[in-house]
Amino acid sequence: MPGRFWEKEIDTLKPKDLQKLQFRRLQKTLKQAARSPFYSQLFRKHRLPPEKIKSLTDLKNLPFTTKQDLRDQFPYGFLAVPREKIVRLHSSSGTTGRATAIFHTQKDLDGWANLVARCMFMAGVRKEDVFQNMSGYGLFTGGLGFQYGAERLGALTIPSGSGNSKRQIHLMQDFSTTVVHVIPSYALHLWKVFEEMGLDPKKDTKLRMMLIGAEPHSEATRQRLEEMYGVEAFNSYGLSEMNGPGVAFECPEKNGMHFWEDDFLVEVIDPKTGKAVPDGEEGELVYTTLNREAMPLIRYRSKDLATVYPEPCPCGRTHRRMSRIKGRSDDMFILKGVNIFPLQIDTTLMNIPEVGTNYLIVLERENFEDRMIVRVEVRPEFFKGDLFQLEKLRRQITEALRSEILVTPKVELVEPDSLPRSEGKAVRVMDKREM
Ligand code: ADP
Ligand code: ZN
Repeated sequence: MPGRFWEKEIDTLKPKDLQKLQFRRLQKTLKQAARSPFYSQLFRKHRLPPEKIKSLTDLKNLPFTTKQDLRDQFPYGFLAVPREKIVRLHSSSGTTGRATAIFHTQKDLDGWANLVARCMFMAGVRKEDVFQNMSGYGLFTGGLGFQYGAERLGALTIPSGSGNSKRQIHLMQDFSTTVVHVIPSYALHLWKVFEEMGLDPKKDTKLRMMLIGAEPHSEATRQRLEEMYGVEAFNSYGLSEMNGPGVAFECPEKNGMHFWEDDFLVEVIDPKTGKAVPDGEEGELVYTTLNREAMPLIRYRSKDLATVYPEPCPCGRTHRRMSRIKGRSDDMFILKGVNIFPLQIDTTLMNIPEVGTNYLIVLERENFEDRMIVRVEVRPEFFKGDLFQLEKLRRQITEALRSEILVTPKVELVEPDSLPRSEGKAVRVMDKREM
């Protein structure tokens, strides 16, 4: 198949050559990092100047860099180039605390755009496509990150930004949008707006692909979106500290996301002990940038939990794949001694057709006892229907959740559109236990 790869040579580099390339770039990165106040001090403290790091194993003698380090060094402590060389600032969304600042030189931005283009091309986006980016533009990386990536690929790119659902739909119709990038929780919501407008995205748009990411979502959510919109949906993963989108992405096999090993060195560790876990076992993803100039990061702990699949991919790319992100280590909550990830609840709910497009998990403490309430929006026709059927559905959902998470939640069925919705990433858990 001609034209299957964005950069054939890099995409299909033999694992051994890929490792060699990684090591060359790592050495360059370490030297570059030594120019920043934070890393020069760290190398001195650990008596490990870049020259002494002779293998990827040596690298493990350096401590991890954490989000707290980024916060402590805010704003310029990680900067490895003179201020006049930086041309852009981005910031994480601040989902889990104070935001952090990430700087880029022009070369960094070019590299990033190329990575996003490589991801989009891999999924199947081509320059003939009309690409609508429904991400927030601004400090959030999903906007400009995809904008420049899609332009690099050569597709007509509509920077529609987030929100304003009716206008999104009009743009899709007016310009025959074929590919969208969208946060999954927003895509679920947007479908309802199509319905309200008396439209069916399957018939009334030219959509063929959906790139979904920026927040944890289950396979069941993907399948729902594919059915609702009549598209193929591809998982897109990234984090601001590693540029943003473009870190890992699904190929047409849709079985794990390739991460670009010429750009990032990935380790998987046990979040409790910090020790490496073998390929195939779940752990926290730790990243070292291999091509960054303004702000190299070494052994950065992402808190994101996933599994690395070492097996070669039938698509022919040699870069390894990671599983869907299970969530951040701090997304997990404990209820009655049981560890629960919101993703488990997403999977269960999205597999039940009567369930609508939004839900909320509330954790409360009453008389020293914790309980979990799951508020679930149901499809309008069920909500208006017979009370007996509604109660049957409530029991069915309770039982499905109980068998997945092993505790019995209190399930409340609520009217469509009655739960709060955020503009950006969905807030799925409200923990009132400490209040
Ligand atoms: P914040 O950390 O404040 O949310 P970012 O915008 O940098 O700011 O978000 C990156 C994080 O979003 C990742 O570390 C990960 O937890 C989550 N994320 C991004 N893409 C995905 C995805 N496809 N699946 C699951 N989680 C994702
Ligand atoms: Zn593949």
